[in-house]
Amino acid sequence: MNLNQLTILSVHQGLKKKEFSSQELTKDCLTKIKKSNKEINAFITVLEKQALKQAEEIDKKIKIQGVDNFLTGIPLGIKDNILIQDVVCTAGSKILENYQAIYDATVIKKLKKAGAIFLGKTNLDEFAMGSSTESSAFGPTKNPINLSYIPGGSSGGSAAAVAANMCLAALGSDTGGSVRQPAGFCGVVGLKPTYGRVSRYGLIAMASSLDQIGPLTKNIEDAEILFKTIKGKDDFDATSVEVKDEDPGKMKTKKIKIGLPKEYFIQGLDSQIKEVINNLIKKWQKQDAEFIEVSLPHASLALACYYIIMPAEVSSNLARYDGIKYGFSTNGENKNLLDVYLDSRTTGFGEEVKRRIMLGAYTLSAGYYQDYYLQAQKVRTLIKKDFEKLFQEKDIDCLLTPISPTLPWKLGEKINNPLSMYLADVYTVSANLAGLPALSLPIGKIDDWPVNGQLIGNYFQESKILHLGKMIEKLGL
Ligand code: GLN
Repeated sequence: MNLNQLTILSVHQGLKKKEFSSQELTKDCLTKIKKSNKEINAFITVLEKQALKQAEEIDKKIKIQGVDNFLTGIPLGIKDNILIQDVVCTAGSKILENYQAIYDATVIKKLKKAGAIFLGKTNLDEFAMGSSTESSAFGPTKNPINLSYIPGGSSGGSAAAVAANMCLAALGSDTGGSVRQPAGFCGVVGLKPTYGRVSRYGLIAMASSLDQIGPLTKNIEDAEILFKTIKGKDDFDATSVEVKDEDPGKMKTKKIKIGLPKEYFIQGLDSQIKEVINNLIKKWQKQDAEFIEVSLPHASLALACYYIIMPAEVSSNLARYDGIKYGFSTNGENKNLLDVYLDSRTTGFGEEVKRRIMLGAYTLSAGYYQDYYLQAQKVRTLIKKDFEKLFQEKDIDCLLTPISPTLPWKLGEKINNPLSMYLADVYTVSANLAGLPALSLPIGKIDDWPVNGQLIGNYFQESKILHLGKMIEKLGL
């Protein structure tokens, strides 16, 4: 077995026992990237020299101080919408093709402090808008399980890189499912933390009231390690909070109770995926878990609500890319300022991004604001209240739902049908609208394809859903 195939925890133990060095591990990852990235296109930028230099320094430090942190010497992939100082950060867009980050995102600062190594920046749908990683200006990422299929999105590069053992783990961002859905399509673990749990400072904003950074890993233990390292209050993100972790040990004393929202198991869900979930339920019941049917009455409105609120925030956040302040510009002679704005944005942005900016500008405009944006905000509150009521009244530990209504589709299959692409997000957007933590984890297979399920927890109960995730892992599905 090559070192790049190991998990964070097993590498940590190996480094401690001096069985290998971080340089050897980093080299194995880089070799795998060299071998497979041409085909898979998981990385937009590979930081070969920097990563090797970082690993060398870490090895020196290990010799003196030992291994003081789980992430010491661990090579990671970072989604290319998270800033690393002095490294190009494209967000998958032509408009930021040459943009060099001038500071570290807070999560990067924390990872640097922990001694993690950055192998490079991973591919994504342009500005994280999409569910297939096909809208990237740098070409699509392919699913390592079958190269004719999409890896999911928008963190498709991160998910594919982890699944193909190009890195030990990766960071992604999740605005409506972008960590969880690609994790599912590539058969790895993905966690979207509670809104506010992880600082968004240095994450290129898509829709600020929904965005969260989360880990993609080979198992739950590793997701927990990464999550615990990046979480916490940050003075640079006013929405971030510090909350004490709940001790999942407390759960051992009582029977586990899981809610199954009936609105999530209706027509449209692939019958084979439903079967995989039923199989999980049967096996878990034998271990003394109790399942109850519950209702989220406004669930059917979530997708429409998301596709109004998200573009509204997108149109506002992306106003800053005007060809003057950042990156690409068609700045030329005989052009007035407005033409520079117009030309730069027309050439710099791709189709999907422009579609969302226009949609958002429309729903925010005078005359339509009340009917669309304001109405969607009201619906968002109803969706949030549905979840709050469930957790209060039903005494459940979490909800179990599918991640995606279908298995991955072929490259190009939905590219000309945005609506069918949007429908793929039906099970993931609610956790973002409500701000709840949600875990995507493998629960079975259909032929060669992995199938992930989703555990949605109450606010700040990441520890609990991770603990329950470990129980599922032990079922060996
Ligand atoms: N697929 C969703 C969208 O296109 C989610 C994107 C995300 O979470 N960044 O909006």
